[in-house]
Amino acid sequence: MPITTQKNELERLLARPGWLQVVPAALLPAHRVQRQRDFARLVTLWSPLLVLAFAGGVGFSFVFHLDQLQGHDLRVYLTCEGLALAVSALGLWMARQPCWQPRADAWIPFFLGFNLFVKVIGGFLIQQPALAVNQVYVTLLVLLIGLLALQLSLRAALVGSALGLSAFLTAPWLADAAFARLFLGHDVLTAGVCLFVALVREDKDRITFLQATLLDLERQEVQRLNEQLAEMAMRDVLTGLSNRRRFDEALAHEWDRARRNGRVLSLLMVDVDHFKAYNDHHGHPAGDRCLVHLAQAMAAAVHRPADLVARYGGEEFVVLLPDTDQAGAMELARKLIAQIDQLALPHVMSSTAPHVTVSVGVATQAPLASMDRQGLVGAADAALYRAKRGGRHAVGA
Ligand code: GH3
Ligand code: MG
Ligand code: MG
Repeated sequence: MPITTQKNELERLLARPGWLQVVPAALLPAHRVQRQRDFARLVTLWSPLLVLAFAGGVGFSFVFHLDQLQGHDLRVYLTCEGLALAVSALGLWMARQPCWQPRADAWIPFFLGFNLFVKVIGGFLIQQPALAVNQVYVTLLVLLIGLLALQLSLRAALVGSALGLSAFLTAPWLADAAFARLFLGHDVLTAGVCLFVALVREDKDRITFLQATLLDLERQEVQRLNEQLAEMAMRDVLTGLSNRRRFDEALAHEWDRARRNGRVLSLLMVDVDHFKAYNDHHGHPAGDRCLVHLAQAMAAAVHRPADLVARYGGEEFVVLLPDTDQAGAMELARKLIAQIDQLALPHVMSSTAPHVTVSVGVATQAPLASMDRQGLVGAADAALYRAKRGGRHAVGA
């Protein structure tokens, strides 16, 4: 899908009224990857806090309910805490393993649900109401912290709560009816808060993801436009050849390379013969079309990837030939003249031939540190002048 269409789709989604954001199907895999990355980061960040919260919960019970933690109730309490600790430790270990992280939303609810389940049963079995209530609240608090810290999805929170609260099905056998009702009311209320928090957070997470994706698309588009602009800045508008700027850069680059490698560099300077007369007779638009034909013929005559044909200005062209000696450059110059002759573009005002012709100046140098690269351009220009003086439609060296 083109970037603009994707951007429009995202902008439409983000501007859409309503309070639940959706991620389009095409972006779901990327969203999943993003969530996994976030999850891995959150687990590393919050694991110590979750351990602390668990220890704090147990510590709280021992500080404020020490006199009730005896006999049967102490045994129930320790069994429940032991089970919760073992399961939570396993869950936390799994959450830190890369192989388990991708599907965390699927398995973590079972760990949360199991914790809640055990604590509800513990609450039923503990005989002293104050301790039972403490058991429930501390658990819910720790679960709430876990839910927030790991940023679980609404679905995960829903499954975890449902599993945990299913412990109430045992109430008719294990608990006093009035206590179970009150206890269930508090649990459902707290689970409701957890679900609401998960819902708001998940919505925010999707909005952030869509905004980040939009930003990324915009960055890609700016980069593409920049590349397009840079390419346009290097092209000649009329002929589509490289322009003078690109030629100057290439010359600097190839000059330095030839100097470093001790190689030669050749340059052809091509000038259309009697082009002023062509323009005067056929008109400027026809002159422009003629230049386009000449440019195409020259580009087609050059084959090596490092060779560069550029419009130097007006009706003058240059051909940069890295690693090419004088003989090779002369041969190409003659080939250019022949190719252009083959075009047979009529030029009735030319005193040289009945068709458009060009003259070519050839210069070859093995660059030295003491030399200026403009010397090569000057030498090609001087050679061109000689070709013109010699009667045009010729190669000068
Ligand atoms: P010579 O054989 O000595 O090269 O003669 P010439 O007429 O080609 O050279 P001169 O420098 O006198 O004229 C060059 C002409 O090229 C002048 C101008 O009208 C024409 N010219 C330069 N740039 C363009 C262009 O972009 N389009 C068109 N149509 N003509 C151009
Ligand atoms: Mg000229
Ligand atoms: Mg000319």
